[in-house]
Amino acid sequence: MSEVKSVILKPKKEVSILRRHPWVFSGAIRSIEGAVQSGDLVAVHANKGRVLGFGHYSPGASIAVRMLTFDETAVDQVWWDSKILDAVKMRKELGLLGGSDNSICRLVHAEGDGMSGLIIDYYDRVAVIQTHSVGMRHSLEAIKSALIAALGSDLIGIYNKSAKLLRKLKLETEDGWIHGEAPKNWSPKEYGAAFEVDILLGQKTGFFIDQRENRDLLRRHSRGKKVLNVFSYTGGFSVTALLGGALKVDSLDSSSRALELAHSNAEANGFDSTTHGCIEADAMEYLKAGVAGYDVVVLDPPAFAKSVSARHKAVQGYKRINSRALESMKPGSLLFTFSCSQAVDDRLFTHTIISAAIQARRDVQILHRLHQPPDHPVSAFHPEGAYLKGLVIRVN
Ligand code: SAH
Repeated sequence: MSEVKSVILKPKKEVSILRRHPWVFSGAIRSIEGAVQSGDLVAVHANKGRVLGFGHYSPGASIAVRMLTFDETAVDQVWWDSKILDAVKMRKELGLLGGSDNSICRLVHAEGDGMSGLIIDYYDRVAVIQTHSVGMRHSLEAIKSALIAALGSDLIGIYNKSAKLLRKLKLETEDGWIHGEAPKNWSPKEYGAAFEVDILLGQKTGFFIDQRENRDLLRRHSRGKKVLNVFSYTGGFSVTALLGGALKVDSLDSSSRALELAHSNAEANGFDSTTHGCIEADAMEYLKAGVAGYDVVVLDPPAFAKSVSARHKAVQGYKRINSRALESMKPGSLLFTFSCSQAVDDRLFTHTIISAAIQARRDVQILHRLHQPPDHPVSAFHPEGAYLKGLVIRVN
């Protein structure tokens, strides 16, 4: 390993690291030793000199160091191999790898798997990597080699999709296959449903894997129902509702490309336009016209709050769309409503939905409280990682 570079914290600023929280904010740093550059692996020291662990350095960012270890263990190939092997083992234990019905999962969920700055999603023998820090970009070769070792014949291609994220950090890189490519008979599946995943042009890594268990719950509430899937993207909830026996499902999104894929996903699972409809519209405008024709409405908007400072505005946005939907929903119908904003926690989201119901003058019951699935784990020491929350509401 090259010369170790060090970050020394101000007095008492080691407390959160001793509790294994992986973020060191720039204001906690007293001094830096050595010619430290963006993306370097640094040793983080307490004010009195003790080594607290190692992490990736990002000058200029508010999170100045993303910790990877919390002792004197070096972050080398052996470390990467063991971290990735452990993440893969957990997904195998969850039945998300190696089976024929489920071949879509998140393999590495950043802080939740002790690898702050790294996301790896898996779609039927293809891994898609997103590096959210320069340090993770510098570790790409080590990550690739660890993935190949951990997955063996369960891995045919690795696609690196980080250019957009790294551009924000002033690093120019290119997206592309860094190992093999998608296999010819590629067929990613979620609980038996086949999904076309647009890795190259789609949002995030191409699919919203985090809704798997919530989609499966919708499947169990869909038989004989008419379902409206608002913010449908490529139709994850729509296809699942159809497979659950829904009479008719309409996917609504403002993106025509997303709707095309939603319809082709419905077709790939045996449904046509008699059972699956596409509505290209702005969600708020459409909801204003009323949704009394549906038995189930799904609202899964993009993150309204990207930061704590945007929280108030985001809450107003959630309240507005939910009260619009609730106003016209028919008695006995169900609302599946979600927020993926990290800055809006469970309690705040529940309060927001309650005030939306009050505004809409509707009596509602909470049937289910929903979260992200276990392949998107939350480190007990980093509660900020719990970002997805949802409620199933019965409208009376
Ligand atoms: N529920 C989806 C993921 C939703 S992602 C799934 O399970 O896969 C959010 C989607 O909202 C995107 O497809 C985006 O195009 C759409 N969107 C964003 N703003 C919108 C608006 N104002 N009206 C309708 N759709 C919108």
